[in-house]
Amino acid sequence: MYSRENFDKVKARFSEKARRAEEEARERARRAEEKNPELHRLGLLIRATAVRVLEESMKGGDDLADRVKAIGRETLRRQEEYAAELRKMGLPADYTKPRFECALCEDTGIVEGKMCTCMKREVVLEGYRASGIGKLLEKQRFDNFDLSYYSHVLLPDKPYSPRDVMTSIFQEMRDWAENFSPETSPSLLFIGGTGLGKTHLSTAIAGKVIEKGFDVVYESAPAVASLFEKDRFGKDEAVSEKLRRIFEAELLILDDLGTEPTSQTTSSAFYQLINTRASVMGLPTIISTNLTHHQLEKQYDTATLSRLLGDFKVKLFLGSDVRRAKLSM
Ligand SMILES: [Zn+2]
Repeated sequence: MYSRENFDKVKARFSEKARRAEEEARERARRAEEKNPELHRLGLLIRATAVRVLEESMKGGDDLADRVKAIGRETLRRQEEYAAELRKMGLPADYTKPRFECALCEDTGIVEGKMCTCMKREVVLEGYRASGIGKLLEKQRFDNFDLSYYSHVLLPDKPYSPRDVMTSIFQEMRDWAENFSPETSPSLLFIGGTGLGKTHLSTAIAGKVIEKGFDVVYESAPAVASLFEKDRFGKDEAVSEKLRRIFEAELLILDDLGTEPTSQTTSSAFYQLINTRASVMGLPTIISTNLTHHQLEKQYDTATLSRLLGDFKVKLFLGSDVRRAKLSM
């Protein structure tokens, strides 16, 4: 997702954002100074600082450093007077300072030589917008996950309803995303039929974790299987790069496991993927599947299965098809 193209796009947007913040600050200053001649006088003197320093440098001389320092002190004093004038007008002291969206990097996208979290997040989001999941991220969020579609009728022989179960899964997943850490968050396995909200919750988690500035890859199992197949036939740089990201993303969300065409290659590749992320890299993965426990046993070998059922926290999604329920309401 950190492609050059996305990075350049975001960088241009950041420069524009910073430029606009500065322009708006100048406009506020202009309007305030129009109403207050003293403010205007101080403003002119402050803005002349750079020119004065330049003039002094051209004159040179042994005491240049002292003269520049004196100008600095004078400007500082005038800035204080300027702020005092603003306060007299009933305005905040920082009224004419640029209002940046990110106080950390002042919308430059860079902090201490590194990409700021705000910019990282934008670059990742840009990648998602390009890949099509961007639309889903906007649509499927925690705040529009509707629990009322799940039945409140108690399950046979159980003291709880599908809605009770889903309410608890929903809250747990929201906390999981909120407190996400690539080092400590456990992997998750979502099991349940179609239309029970697995994709909605997965997307909501992806959105939240991306927002926090982590690198998230969201792929369907068939798409990953086809990458494995392509990779088998030799070196395609784009394919290898995509697979590398799938192996190394801070969070991998693998949707619809079990719908991929099965072959010896893909089965062992999936095992490798799950195993490498879990035991070598120690990175969390979220897998969702429509297969039942029994069907999983039939489709995957013991090694894969014991990883999935042993290392992943299993969440059983209950209820009847929510999408169908939505349509009939
Ligand atoms: Zn920032």
